[in-house]
Amino acid sequence: MRCLVTGGAGFLGSHLCERLLNDGHEVICLDNYFTGRMANVNHLRDNKSFELIRHDVTEPILLEVDRIFNLACPASPIHYQYNPVKTIKTSVMGAINMLGMAKRVHARILQASTSEVYGDPAVHPQTEDYWGNVNPIGIRSCYDEGKRVAETLFMDYHRQNNVDIRIVRIFNTYGPRMLPNDGRVVSNFIVQALKGEDITIYGDGSQTRSFCYVDDLIEGFVRMMNQEKIIGPVNIGNPGEFTMLELAKEVLDLTGSNSKIVYQPLPGDDPKMRRPNIDLAKSALGWEPTIPLRKGLEKTICYFDELLKG
Ligand code: NAD
Ligand code: UDP
Repeated sequence: MRCLVTGGAGFLGSHLCERLLNDGHEVICLDNYFTGRMANVNHLRDNKSFELIRHDVTEPILLEVDRIFNLACPASPIHYQYNPVKTIKTSVMGAINMLGMAKRVHARILQASTSEVYGDPAVHPQTEDYWGNVNPIGIRSCYDEGKRVAETLFMDYHRQNNVDIRIVRIFNTYGPRMLPNDGRVVSNFIVQALKGEDITIYGDGSQTRSFCYVDDLIEGFVRMMNQEKIIGPVNIGNPGEFTMLELAKEVLDLTGSNSKIVYQPLPGDDPKMRRPNIDLAKSALGWEPTIPLRKGLEKTICYFDELLKG
């Protein structure tokens, strides 16, 4: 199959391109390099089944493909808040352009949606039938509402035009190829610990997140794309739930760092808790994560250690 991966030079996209090539597919990686890097896919460029295109998904493009994985969108709050108007355009116009392509060439298309569609959830853990608690006018809204509209567009193209869609709601995912200055909590804490800098906990550190290692997530993506049973949305994440204080202590323990924990103000609309209910992923995809936090952190620490030394 010929697969298009938008946002393919980013953290998750680059792992997905690698996996699809290993599975024997042709891969077109499309990216505008806002938060992605050519270095993430450089090792794939000699592969004759791999093609790289610099393009912005807010602009239409004509390609002939069998499958589309739509990942283009900055994922870290500091990056998606840098140019919020561009962020929402990327989600909404990117979805329209990619769905238009899927409709024209009869490709199956998967949307990388997010647990942020649940906002600051009033239901815990989050099941797919929960409609969420999202502030429409806050500093996270450009991302959350953009992703919600993208889901709406996917469902409407499916109902109205019979486009063959898949939607996955991704919960916090971490691993090698995150940017050291990405601003997300796992990369921040690891880089701070390795450099001996203060570990910055926002708020009192009691807020929770559930962290999925990248390899587990990619397996979930591939299973979702390759099955006919459900179109989604399906939660893909690791149900292990940790406070940010627990995460900081785990990182300090694994790195053996002497960094101090310091507390900084909590950003606006920061969700208090988040954990996926993954019953649907288990029953429909036979998927569940296999890599516990400690093991995934070890691998990620090794990656950042090498990166910072180099
Ligand atoms: P990332 O920032 O590393 O990757 C996003 C990629 O999209 C980058 O390569 C970036 O350059 C590219 N991009 C951004 N705007 C673009 C545009 N207008 N046109 C073309 N390319 C554009 O982030 P990631 O963690 O790899 O996330 C990938 C996808 O998964 C995103 O859609 C994100 O919303 C979703 N997601 C990720 C997580 C997570 O924890 N990593 C959680 C939920 C959802
Ligand atoms: N966070 C933190 N210190 C940091 C970066 C983030 O305490 O240096 C907190 C942040 O306030 C949030 C959690 O960690 O409560 C996860 O943040 P991240 O940006 O990784 O993801 P998201 O909030 O989008 O789930």
